[in-house]
Amino acid sequence: MKITALGVNSAFSSGEYVKSVSLEAINHELKKIVHSKKKNEPIPIKDIIKNLSSAAETMYKPKWQSNFILEFEKENGNPYRLVLDFGSDFRHSLQGAGYKLNDIDGYYCSHPHADHIGGIEGVALSHIFNPYFKEGKLEWLKNETTNEIDLIAKRLSNGEQIPEKYKPDLFGHKSVLNELWSAARPGLETIQGVTDVNLHTYFNVKYMQDNRPIIFDDAERKWSIYTVTSVHVNAGYRQMPSYGLMLESSDGKIIYMPTDTQFMTPRQVSLYYEKAHVVYQDCETGPRSEVHPHLDDLKTLSPHLKKKLILYHYGAEPETEPDEFKEILKTGTTHEY
Ligand SMILES: [Zn+2]
Repeated sequence: MKITALGVNSAFSSGEYVKSVSLEAINHELKKIVHSKKKNEPIPIKDIIKNLSSAAETMYKPKWQSNFILEFEKENGNPYRLVLDFGSDFRHSLQGAGYKLNDIDGYYCSHPHADHIGGIEGVALSHIFNPYFKEGKLEWLKNETTNEIDLIAKRLSNGEQIPEKYKPDLFGHKSVLNELWSAARPGLETIQGVTDVNLHTYFNVKYMQDNRPIIFDDAERKWSIYTVTSVHVNAGYRQMPSYGLMLESSDGKIIYMPTDTQFMTPRQVSLYYEKAHVVYQDCETGPRSEVHPHLDDLKTLSPHLKKKLILYHYGAEPETEPDEFKEILKTGTTHEY
């Protein structure tokens, strides 16, 4: 099983715009000099700088929201790719990691903040109107000759459902998926000419519960995956939990991905920290919002626990002692388990 970080930054981190000159432009300028400069003539530094400055383009150095891909190896050797949270910038971070939407088989949603569900409308509409998701869907559509988008809408308006094999899976706690639907409903409920649209129209919805594992095959092994409830936001009368994932392999590996959570809240989550060998830990580095553990809090943990923590979901990169934590996660990093 492989875990890849599509992004590692906090919800509202934004990247920076920098002026940059492409290798092609530098190459072009150097060739021009080599061809035109006469022997003993000085190198025209000022001209080179001027020309390269005018060739500079504005580039974006992104900071993507903290989303992951979990990749399992199915019996037939093909991967099953499960996305853990899909924020507003998911389509860009996915592409940045070298994947297309077609490569994704399922989605898991931990809680309804925009950096975890903001990509839902793009994900749902892009999958349903994609005639190539998955193999065989185009043939299923092609009894008639018109464009695929019309065909899909026509099938739905006739009361047909998209067959399960042509829809991605959507996993999550029932309360989260209900809130996900409430948030996405205006955009997803309206397909031209189609009535009675709901989350099941787009996805194979699979509800999850704490301590009720779903099994994922992974080559010779199996992974039992279940949710762990923790408190993310406490607004007095109303709390927003985040449902993290505990992943336990048949050969004894245990990974805990609490997603967004306050520091050891409720206290019972500390049991999962003890049990796990590796924890992907959200870590705040700026002013305290109280809805994520702050780096200063995490530094107070025992050395034994700190050595399990892979820190991510930061704004500025955490400053730690060498080897204090297991790792500071970077965008694009893949871990194999
Ligand atoms: Zn959150």
